Amino acid sequence: MQDCLFCKIIAGEIPSNKVYEDDLCYAFYDIDPQAPTHFLVIPKQHIQSVAAVDETNSAIVAHCFEVIAKVTKELGLDSFRVVSNIGEQAGQSVFHLHFHVLAGRDMTWPPG
Ligand code: AMP
Ligand code: ZN
Repeated sequence: MQDCLFCKIIAGEIPSNKVYEDDLCYAFYDIDPQAPTHFLVIPKQHIQSVAAVDETNSAIVAHCFEVIAKVTKELGLDSFRVVSNIGEQAGQSVFHLHFHVLAGRDMTWPPG
């Protein structure tokens, strides 16, 4: 999608520090890490947020979670947090579905 930062990252038009890639998903380190390990897993298809997941694209979202399980295992992470912000009030700043994967420090609950 034109003017979407993450679509441009997937297309290679904006550089990123890649963690993993396949036909459906792309994963890369967050530019402003909030934990010692902080990367984002995104579908290559432009989906606005979790609120736009439906029967036409949910298999891609399920695949993103397979990728999270695989990559965290490969990185030796046995405890981590997965976060997706939906809408501005929840802190979404890029409107292309992404799952934050955070690890390497104690996490608080409830999140802020
Ligand atoms: P959110 O605020 O939940 O929409 O998450 C967007 C995330 O994208 C933030 O954690 C940003 O730090 C991250 N981000 C923004 N631009 C880039 C970039 N060029 N490369 C990597 N991460 C980015
Ligand atoms: Zn996009």
